[in-house]
Amino acid sequence: MNLPEMFRLDGRVAVVTGGSRGLGLEIAQGLGEAGATVVITARRQEWLGPAQEELQAAGIQAAALMCDVAEPEQVAALGTRVLEQLGKVDVLVNAAGVSWGAPATELSAERWRWVMDVNATGAFLCCQTFGKPMLAQGSGRIVNVASIAGLVGTSPDILDAVSYSASKGAIMAMTRDLAVKWAPRGVTVNAVAPGFFPTRMTKGVIEQAGAKLAAANPMGRLGRPGELKGAVLFLASDAASYVTGHVLTVDGGLTAW
Ligand code: NAP
Repeated sequence: MNLPEMFRLDGRVAVVTGGSRGLGLEIAQGLGEAGATVVITARRQEWLGPAQEELQAAGIQAAALMCDVAEPEQVAALGTRVLEQLGKVDVLVNAAGVSWGAPATELSAERWRWVMDVNATGAFLCCQTFGKPMLAQGSGRIVNVASIAGLVGTSPDILDAVSYSASKGAIMAMTRDLAVKWAPRGVTVNAVAPGFFPTRMTKGVIEQAGAKLAAANPMGRLGRPGELKGAVLFLASDAASYVTGHVLTVDGGLTAW
């Protein structure tokens, strides 16, 4: 296989949770540009519908299915529908995520649980649901979207979201453990840890602290649209066939200081 072929996903089926906007949509675009049929999922049709149209307008085979990843029955139903409609799953990207800003001394247990449920439990449920058919077919690529917030602490002036950081740390630990468990059976499990990219989730943080964040970054700037999808495509492709349990930071060197 030559190098460009290693990065192609023709004939593969990729599920991207949180694929209706922001980084998840960019990732779905990247996988689709590489030839995959993509299934994007999210809770709300108001973003899901336009995202599917955008992908299809770019010539990508795209389906859109509503699913709340924190709800085990909905994830199970998603798995059944994907297998019924597309026959298999080759790539899973867990990009669905939420955050909640509050000082650690004030954060309610309810909000802590909500963020952990969506980010950590949601990613686990999707790994479990789509991991089973991947293990049965003896191949699969899982890419979990973590965050540098799960690797290093953050000043409350910039990001005051301790449950978010904890959930992303959990995702990285789960990534390494599943990677070891599933490596002998042809399924790789990796993660990306993005730095700060402008999206709906980070709008408030960037409005408040964007200049500080840029100044603190070795590259002197935030992430730009299009700068994450290549890293995810690598981990989802044959180019990464001997890479598993890895967390790839995409942060302009912020955590390399
Ligand atoms: P975003 O624009 O808010 O996108 C979040 C996506 O997740 C949306 O598609 C949203 O759709 C979906 N989602 C939220 N809760 C869900 C649930 N319970 N079930 C299913 N889907 C759900 O934010 P983003 O910045 O692109 O974030 C994407 C991922 O990247 C997240 O995991 C985030 O933690 C991670 N990340 C982002 C940055 C950054 O700088 N932007 C940095 C590091 C990591 P609905 O609301 O319709 O469900």
